[in-house]
Amino acid sequence: MKKVIIRKTEEIENWRRNINSEINFIPTMGNLHNGHIKLITTAKNDNSNVNLVSIFINPLQFDNKFDLENYPKTIENDIKISFENGADAILIPSTEDIYPTNNKNVKFLKAPIELTSALCGLNRIGHFDGVCTVVYRLLNLIKPKNLYLGEKDWQQLLILKNLVLTKKLNIAIKSIPTQRDFDGIPLSSRNVHLSKNERKLIRFFSSELLEIKKNFQQEKKINLQEIIKKLSEKKISIEYLEHLHPHTLQKARLEDNISLLAGAIRCGETRLIDHVFLMKRKPIIAIDGPAGSGKSTVTKLIAKKLKLLYLDTGAMYRSLSWLLLKENIDYKKEKNLQNFLKDISIVFKSNTNLNQDVFINNHCVTQEIRSQEISSIVSKISSIKEVRKFLVEEQRRIGETGGLVAEGRDIGTTVFPNAELKIFLTASIEERAKRRKSDKNCKDSQEIDLNTLKELIEKRDFEDSTREISPLIKANDAIEIITDKYSINEVVDKIIDLYNDKIPKETQIQ
Ligand code: C5P
Repeated sequence: MKKVIIRKTEEIENWRRNINSEINFIPTMGNLHNGHIKLITTAKNDNSNVNLVSIFINPLQFDNKFDLENYPKTIENDIKISFENGADAILIPSTEDIYPTNNKNVKFLKAPIELTSALCGLNRIGHFDGVCTVVYRLLNLIKPKNLYLGEKDWQQLLILKNLVLTKKLNIAIKSIPTQRDFDGIPLSSRNVHLSKNERKLIRFFSSELLEIKKNFQQEKKINLQEIIKKLSEKKISIEYLEHLHPHTLQKARLEDNISLLAGAIRCGETRLIDHVFLMKRKPIIAIDGPAGSGKSTVTKLIAKKLKLLYLDTGAMYRSLSWLLLKENIDYKKEKNLQNFLKDISIVFKSNTNLNQDVFINNHCVTQEIRSQEISSIVSKISSIKEVRKFLVEEQRRIGETGGLVAEGRDIGTTVFPNAELKIFLTASIEERAKRRKSDKNCKDSQEIDLNTLKELIEKRDFEDSTREISPLIKANDAIEIITDKYSINEVVDKIIDLYNDKIPKETQIQ
């Protein structure tokens, strides 16, 4: 495809008609560095869409005339960098073109007050209104499928996600982690203004934040006043330093697993921002739903793609049922069950097929627990108080440090009620029976006729959702996905998109 430079917004429509493809859009203000390059290459490697980079210094988002006049301009180099790294087109409009005088079509937007009442919003009056105005204008002109933004400007990212949502634009926002320079400071076009001494100050500020992030994994708390004191002693001029919820930008609460520590400092005429995400444990995804809804297949793929641990809690209930049967324990007698549970060890191990084997007291039961015999008793056994108490404790122990995707019936409601993402996966009974019948892991199900299978699944659904203790129900904050019409990969992609939307990329690479 011929690479093009578009200098007039009126040419965009014509260009769009000719490309015959969806568009990845990477908006920039120029003076491109490795952060921008990462955005362009991420877009290029994501899909086969056409990549459009815009270079436009938006006067509306500058609250400081000096900053606007001195914003670094390196247009020839930017064009070269963009094309070399995967841009198919570059839009370089003039200010008059973006904001034509007397043109009533330009909508001047206001960023939402909830998201501008913290961090830069308090100090840079009108800045985010300007950002919203220019991005909305560009999105309407370009009509991209995907918008690529950096997490370095986290508040801006939240505000633009909100814009896309409230304006009901059908655009996916993809983010990349903050890119740092060799000395740890976040890459920013404004870094060129820094003197050697100023650079030293920001380096100290960034390394402090990174150190706090590291220590937080152990300490699980911070003392904001002490941090501010320490920075001030190093003669760092702090404009703000705040500890907030990463999405609402309200003050961080004790129960927040992921929080945002963000600050702005002044170095001479230059103002620089940096942040870290503090995590008590790595993220958890909870996937609940009835039998045959596709949980196992989907959960395994998600674990693989996101490099998370995979926890199949159903396999734990099944293993326990298997051993109770094998040892012929009268589990209705409380004492028997209590004695039995004292010596139980359930372990998952990866096998050579890149799957997991489940062991109970050293018996590998991966295959046996999928039999119809086990399927028909597991619901009864899993409704027993002692059984649930024992297995829920085991599951919480496995998930203590997070970094896992767990599937079951009560993950989002009972086992991990603080999970970052909760999914309730379901499908019609017809579809679920069909899936079970063709499930190679359930040999017995393949031999049962579809109607009987339907009845068996309905019976298990009934038992699971009407039991007294942690029945199968959708958690209030779970997202329901009805999978009948979707392929496995579509469901997986949907859940990964939801995960990426909730969990900053930066925390995923820690
Ligand atoms: O998901 P799977 O079909 O392997 O689960 C088997 C059974 O284990 C379920 O029908 C349910 O009775 C029980 N179970 C449960 N709580 C979980 C997971 C499974 O009660 N978290």
